Amino acid sequence: MNKFEYLRKQMIDYQLAARGLRDRTVLKAVSAVPREAFVPADLVEFAYNDSPLPIAASQTISQPYIVALMTAALELKPEERVLEIGTGSGYAAAVLAEIAKEVYTIERHKILADTARIRLEELGYNNTQVLYGDGTLGWPEYAPFDAIVVAAGGPDVPQNLKQQLAIGGRLVIPVGTTMRTQKLLRVRRISEDEFHEENLGDVRFVPLIGAAGWEDETADKAVTEKIEASLPELIYQSSEHFASIDHVNLDNLLERIGDSRLVLLGEASHGTAEFYEMRARITQELIEKKGFTIVAAEADWPDAAHIDRYIHGTAPDPLLESRPFSRFPTWMWANHSVLEFTHWLKAHNDKIASFDKQVGFYGLDLYSLFHSMEVVLNYLDKVDPDTAEVARLRYGCLLPWASDPGMYSQVTITKQYKECEEDVLATLQDLLNKRLEYAWADGERFFNVEQNARLVTNAERYYRTMYYAENNSWNQRDQHMFETLQAVLAFRGPDSKAVVWEHNSHIGDARATQMSARGEFNIGQLARQEYDDAAYLIGFGTDHGTVAAASEWGGPMEVKQVQPSHIESYERVCHEVHTDNFLLPLRKPLQEITRTKLLAERLERAIGVIYRPETELQSHYFYASLPRQFDEYIWFDESRAVEPLTKETTKGVPDTYPFGL
Ligand code: SAM
Repeated sequence: MNKFEYLRKQMIDYQLAARGLRDRTVLKAVSAVPREAFVPADLVEFAYNDSPLPIAASQTISQPYIVALMTAALELKPEERVLEIGTGSGYAAAVLAEIAKEVYTIERHKILADTARIRLEELGYNNTQVLYGDGTLGWPEYAPFDAIVVAAGGPDVPQNLKQQLAIGGRLVIPVGTTMRTQKLLRVRRISEDEFHEENLGDVRFVPLIGAAGWEDETADKAVTEKIEASLPELIYQSSEHFASIDHVNLDNLLERIGDSRLVLLGEASHGTAEFYEMRARITQELIEKKGFTIVAAEADWPDAAHIDRYIHGTAPDPLLESRPFSRFPTWMWANHSVLEFTHWLKAHNDKIASFDKQVGFYGLDLYSLFHSMEVVLNYLDKVDPDTAEVARLRYGCLLPWASDPGMYSQVTITKQYKECEEDVLATLQDLLNKRLEYAWADGERFFNVEQNARLVTNAERYYRTMYYAENNSWNQRDQHMFETLQAVLAFRGPDSKAVVWEHNSHIGDARATQMSARGEFNIGQLARQEYDDAAYLIGFGTDHGTVAAASEWGGPMEVKQVQPSHIESYERVCHEVHTDNFLLPLRKPLQEITRTKLLAERLERAIGVIYRPETELQSHYFYASLPRQFDEYIWFDESRAVEPLTKETTKGVPDTYPFGL
C-alpha cells in the first residue's frame, strides 16, 4: 500500500465511517478515486485532510466528507445518469463516475473545465463529459437525469434543474439566503409537477453564480477576466528572462534540475543555432557543476565515436578532418555550433587526467547499419579472424541493400528475399558469448563494437518493419535510443549522469502529445517511466526567424524563413509574452495557475530536417499539453539558421528517414 492509499483508507475510516456514513457503494467509490490527482501539485500532501482545498480560479475542491455525503444523498444506482453542477477539480465527478453509468458535469470557469476534462480522461473516466458553461441552465440535450447534484450554493432551486429531473429523480443542492451559508436540500420528483423537499443540514459552499444563481460579483468578475485574459502575462510572471545565451544565469535551472541523473534537451527544429548554443551552455554547466560525463546525441553511433575519440585526445578533429556526418542531413551535426561545443569538450577533457572522469560523446541513433557492420568486421578481423569470417558471411545477407537500406524494407515485405534477422542476431550473440574474452583485452573498444553489433540488429528490424508499420518502426528507433543510453550509463558506472540532445518530439513525454494516440512512445517517455523525477525534460521553442532545412528527402540544405506561429499554438502564446528569451519552469512553476492554464492542449510546432511552410499546419503542427510533455520550456522569440560546416550535401538515405525528426 503506498502513502496515498494509506491516507485514503484513514480518510474513509476517520472522516467518513466515523461520522456515520455507512453507504458501502459510496465508501467503495471514494476509496477508488485518487484524490491526490485532483489537488494542486503543491498541496498533494494535504489531499486527504478533512477540509476543502483551494484550486484555480479562486474555487475549492470540496471536503471529502461533503462529497461522500452528497453522493450518498443521491441514492445512485449503477444504471443511472447523473448531472453535476460545479465540476471544480473533477474529484466529485470521478466519485460519481465510479457508481453511475454516465456523468455529465458543468463548470463555469474554462480553466477548471479544461483541466478537469484532461484529468478525468487521463484517469480513465470515459463515462464522464465536461461542459464549460452556466450549470444553472442544466444540460437539456442529455435530460432527463436520474440525479442532479449542485456543488455550489444558490438562492433557490433552479427551475431548469427541477425540470430536467426524471420522475423519481433526486436533486441535491445547497440553498441559502446569503452567498456563503446554506442548507443542503434534497428534492425528489414525485410526478410531472410534484416535488418533495428534505433538509439534510447546514453547509457552506462557494456561491452558485449564473442565470438562476447569484449575480456575478464585480470582484469575482475581475478575477475571472484577469485569469481568462492573460496567459502571456502569467507566463511573463512565471518565467526567467535573459538577454543572451552567453550571459544567461543558469543557477536557478541547475537548482531545479537538482540531482537528476538524466537531462534531456530538446529542439523545435534540426536547424536552429540558438537551440544548439543554449544546449551547449546548459551542458557545460552540468559538466562543470554537477559532474555529468555523458553527452548523448540523436546522431549515429560510429559518427559520434569520431567526436568521442577527438575529445579524448586520441584522434584529430573529425569535423575539420575526416568529416563524419557526411550523409543527409549533414548540417544537423556538422555545423559551427557543434564544432565550437566539441572544442570546448576537448579543452575540458584536456584538464582531466583520468580517462574515466572525462566527458564522452555518444550517438544514440540507428541509421548507420552498414558503417556499423564495417566496425564489427574490422574489429573481429583483428581479434578473432575465424569469427570474423562467419560474421562476414552472415552480414552478407544485408549487403545487396547497402546503398539503400530502405529497399530492404520493401523487399522483405514481398517475401521474395530472405530476411536477415537470424543472421544479424547470431553475430551479436557470438560477440556476446565471447564478451569476457574480448572485453578483458580491451574494454572501451569492445563496448564500441558491441554497440555497433546491437545497432545492426535493431536497424535490421527497423528497416524490415518500416513499410508495414510506421509507428512500430518509430518505436523501435526510440527504444534503440533508450537502450543505447542505458548501455552507456551502465558502462560509465552507477554514478554516471547523462545529457541527451534530441528533437523535442523524441525527448518530450509522448504521452502528452498526439503521438500516443498512434501508439507511439519516445525516449522522453521511456526515461520518465524508468527514472521518474530523476529525468528532467527540457523543450525548446521559437516564433519566427530562419532555419536550416531541406524541402524534400535528400535535398540540399536551404536557409528558410520560419513562419510566425499559428494562432492556436503554444508558440503564439509565448510570442505574445513580448519578450525575447525566457526559461519557463513547468514542473515546479513559479505560479501554479500558469501551469494549470497551459495544461489544456494546444498546437505545437515541430520542424525536422524538412520544412514545408506551404503546408505548415498539416506537416508541422500537432497537439500536445506542454506542462505534461516537458519539465521546462526554453523560448527564443526570434531565431536564426544553424551554419553548416560545408555547403555541399551528399545524397543518400536521410539520417532520419522516414520521420525527418
Ligand atoms: N465538485 C468540485 C470538486 O470536486 O472539486 C468542487 C466544486 S466547488 C465547491 C464549486 C464549483 O462550482 C466551482 O468550481 C465554481 O466555479 C462552480 N460554479 C459556480 N457556479 C456555477 C455555475 N452556474 N455553473 C457551473 N459551475 C458553477
